[in-house]
Amino acid sequence: MRELQIVQKTAALHEARWWEPEAGGKVHCYLCPRHCHIGQGQAGFCFIRANESGKLYSLGYAHPAAMQIDPIEKKPLNHFLPGTRVFSMGTAGCNMGCFFCQNWDISKSRADQVRSSNVPPEDVVSLAIRHGCPSIAFTYNEPTIWGEYVIDICHAAREAGLKTVMVSNGYITRQAFHDIYDHIDAANIDLKAFTESFYGRITLTHLQPVLETLEWLKNETSVWFEITNLIIPTLNDAPAETRALAEWVIEHLGPDVPLHFTAFHPDFKLQDKPRTPAGTLHAARATAIEVGLHYVYEGNIYSDGANTSCPSCGTILIRRSWHDVQKNSLRDGACPACGMAIPGRWTNSRTRAELTGARASAAERYEDLNL
Ligand code: SF4
Repeated sequence: MRELQIVQKTAALHEARWWEPEAGGKVHCYLCPRHCHIGQGQAGFCFIRANESGKLYSLGYAHPAAMQIDPIEKKPLNHFLPGTRVFSMGTAGCNMGCFFCQNWDISKSRADQVRSSNVPPEDVVSLAIRHGCPSIAFTYNEPTIWGEYVIDICHAAREAGLKTVMVSNGYITRQAFHDIYDHIDAANIDLKAFTESFYGRITLTHLQPVLETLEWLKNETSVWFEITNLIIPTLNDAPAETRALAEWVIEHLGPDVPLHFTAFHPDFKLQDKPRTPAGTLHAARATAIEVGLHYVYEGNIYSDGANTSCPSCGTILIRRSWHDVQKNSLRDGACPACGMAIPGRWTNSRTRAELTGARASAAERYEDLNL
């Protein structure tokens, strides 16, 4: 366990869920498959769940370290409210140890090492409304580890007619899964590779719990979800691995779950690997389509592989450039040429005008956030 030099001085500590006391003042956190056993004055692997006097506290609660307005396509979600803005937020810490993390400045930091604001759940919703966002994304670091805050924001968001999105590594226990995902509208789950050796060596976790999360999402929830596979040269780019991943998706989740192959750039501890060549993404996409997946995308490059096409007649339904939607030809969620229904969540319960017209007074306090 990590030595802890907290304590949050800006707000009262928020008691965590998903833990049990153990002998000698230790606590067992069972929120994620790490199952940390945490001594007094220490934090779990993720840095932001800490044992203070024999109780577990969530240090990320109401303390986002990053807040930003993004296009929903950046999450990436291509079948969920396309062309809309999403209010995106993350805290410090993470429960994985990915050598290639692209947000390592917050994910590898303790709660007291990042600049954060105190933003209660209802103020998150006010900020999203004020900035014309029909949805809120829990992203940048792993949102599972601040699940208490996520759930409270979801309650407030639902009351206001906003949707919520998890951008997650899928590393969560059975005990916590429904507590969080029963409140969520959409998710993008990183399937970082399809070998246990990659997960063990490069992320310091395991593959099987992530596959189980994907199956729970498919079989036990109505959450709209898509999958991202970041392809890193020499580590997870073998054509046979890509084929095995696509075959697993079609067998266990079906052909309609969108799969995004995205390009790596050198970051954090993986500075020695080159950027992913565009040809690798093209080949991966071709393999997944050949296997039978209907919606396969390429990301982090300019490519026609960002477009959504009708799997029946081939008509381009949504034309994109990087994260920008240039043209959306869907008609009531269906192909205008052949009428095939395209799976996704295409309509928004509140219009942009309604959202931007709303002015929540609480949000006025956050003028300095430069959103
Ligand atoms: S959520 Fe954090 S403290 Fe809890 S088991 Fe996972 S890494 Fe450990």
